[in-house]
This record gives sequence, C-alpha cells and structure tokens, in this order.
Amino acid sequence: MRPSKSTSKSRGNETVSVLRFRLEPTKEQEQKLFRTFFLCRKLYNQALEDRVMSYREKGITIHYTDQQNRLPVWKREHPEYQEVHSQVLQNVLQRLDQAFVNFFEKRAKFPKFKNKFMFRSITYPQARDTYFHDNQVYLPKIGWVRMRAHLPFDPASVKIINVKFHDGKWYVNLTSVTKTIAPRTETCKSVGIDLGLLSLVATSDGEFFENPKWLQKSEKRLKRMQRQLSRKKKGSKNRQKAKHKLQGVHDHVANQRKDHLHKISRSLVDRYDLICMEDLQVKEMMKNHRLAKSIGNASWGKLATYLEYKAKNAGKHLIKVPPHYTSQRCSGGCGTIVKKNLSVRLHQCPTCGLEIDRDVNAAINILHRGLEIRHQAS
Ligand SMILES: [Zn+2]
Repeated sequence: MRPSKSTSKSRGNETVSVLRFRLEPTKEQEQKLFRTFFLCRKLYNQALEDRVMSYREKGITIHYTDQQNRLPVWKREHPEYQEVHSQVLQNVLQRLDQAFVNFFEKRAKFPKFKNKFMFRSITYPQARDTYFHDNQVYLPKIGWVRMRAHLPFDPASVKIINVKFHDGKWYVNLTSVTKTIAPRTETCKSVGIDLGLLSLVATSDGEFFENPKWLQKSEKRLKRMQRQLSRKKKGSKNRQKAKHKLQGVHDHVANQRKDHLHKISRSLVDRYDLICMEDLQVKEMMKNHRLAKSIGNASWGKLATYLEYKAKNAGKHLIKVPPHYTSQRCSGGCGTIVKKNLSVRLHQCPTCGLEIDRDVNAAINILHRGLEIRHQAS
C-alpha cells in the first residue's frame, strides 16, 4: 500500500475523494487498536452467528436495523464492547450487512466467520473537523495519533476515517466529500477586510460582521463553568463530572463559532472577486499581549483558512497584505498618519478632514494595498 495515494470520483454535484496517509501510533495506542480489532471481530462473528441461528431455528431473516437495536443488549452482556466507540461498532454491523447484500446479489459467497488476519481495519463513519490538528488525527477511544499528512486537505470535508493495519504498517484513509461548485458569474468587485476584536470583520464597503449575541452568551457560560470547575476538589467525582460537562459545552461553542465564520466567509466569497486581508503571521508579531489572550486570534486564523479555500474553490482571489500602519494611515488619499489608541473608534484626519470608522479606514487601506500588489504582479 502506498501512502498519500489519492483517488477521487464525481457523484452528481459532489466529489468523493480518498486520501491515504501513514499513521504513527505509540506502542500504547497500537495495543488499543489491536484490542479494538479483536472486539470488532468478536462482534462481527457474534452478529453473523445471530443471523445464521435465527434463520436456521426460526426461519427469520434478521436485518441490519434489528442488529443495531440489539447492540445495547450485547453491550450489557459484554461490557468490554464499551472500549470501542459506538459508531465503530455500528459500522461492524454495517459491514456484515453489506456482506449479506453482496451474497444475495450474487457478487460474493456466503459471509464467513473472520479470523484475526481477516479483521484489520476499523471505520469511524462520522468524522468531524475537530478530529484534525497539527498532523494528528483524533480517533475516539484511542486518542490523538500522529499522521504523516503530505498533502493538504480540508478537515471540514472529511466524512469518514478508516484505520488499517497492513504489512506491519498503519494507515489512515480519509474520505472527503466536496460540493462541485458551478462557475460563478464574476462580480468584478473587490473588498478589503480588517479583522478586529470589537467587530470581528469590518469591510472597506462599511459593512460589519460582529460576534453574535448567542455566541457571546455561550462564551460567558463557558467561562463561568471553567471557574466552577477550578473550585471543585481535585480528583473528586464532582470534578470529573464537571470536567466532562465543560468539554461538551466547549465543543458546542467551538462549533457555533465555526458555523458563524463559515457564514461570514461564504458571504464575502459570494459577493466579491478579490478579497484583501492582513497577513496574520505579521499581525501576530505586532500584537499586544493582552489582546493575544483574546479569542480573536483563533477566530482570525480560522476565518483566513475558510476564506482561502472557499475563494480557491470558487475561482476567486485572496491577497494577504502587510498590516503595518493600516489603522493609522488616512485612507482619504492624503496618506497622513493619524495616531490613535485602541479606544478611539473614529478616524479623524486633520489634513483632508475625512471622518470614518477606524476599522473601515483600515479596511480601505488594506484594499488599496491588495490592489497595488495585484497590479504589480500583472
Ligand atoms: Zn486624510
């Protein structure tokens, strides 16, 4: 098996592609994976026997849904199944069902009981984009596993994760589904965007995208729960419970935030052909440490990523410009540097008299810089 093999095929207006990367589990993770194979194989054989016996003794054909409904009972009878993620167990039953479908449609022989050499892969059928971070993939019940990702991919498009052991090596297959986008009509419009804390995004057209109230509320709730957790006794049951609950809310808020950033980036890419933004790596170096602690940074980075691939998919352009003086310089054409600290919301130019929101002023400067860069490149 070759790593980073990529296959893709189109299906209606969707493209399904599979990327294969090498996995590098630790010794401990490897043990857990082998144990998972063992338990999945046990379930597969048990479910197969269940189908065969039911047909032989009662003449009743059992289907996938019947077996899925029986899963909780099997889990009670064999508590060791709890060690395996529930979706992985469901997938085992789906595999068996597929084996029967293949048999009934005369594409394969009657399903066989599997020995340990025949069961060397597991599938997580509902991947999330939060399962990927820094060349690692999160396999529920196994942990964060190192992954040699040679090719770039969009974590949000990954729907299925399949882990395989072959010839003494570990592999992960990532199945992505992306919408095939119809070519858009050009809008011939350009925009500059300024990323801030007060407003998440301000555009050179004077539009603002705020963090919505419900998101602020969720974030407040998260902070409150963090404080409550810190007051609970270390190692106590209550602390464990609170920790678990906190993780749930944390994931929920992260997803809400992402949804919101997806909406903003979609709205901008739909309406503009050229989007200019600040180069965040440089902005990062300029940042002041109190601001750095803010949630802003994480959101900015995500928004930049979303804009980048959405623009690319839609055949549009994203230009990153150096952020120096974008908030101080007057965008009215006079170029005067108007110093102002963060509390000053209005840009007032003593030279040309321009009065404009400080973030919109910055966004216009960013647009001008982007257009300059574009002009020089062509
Ligand atoms: Zn001016």
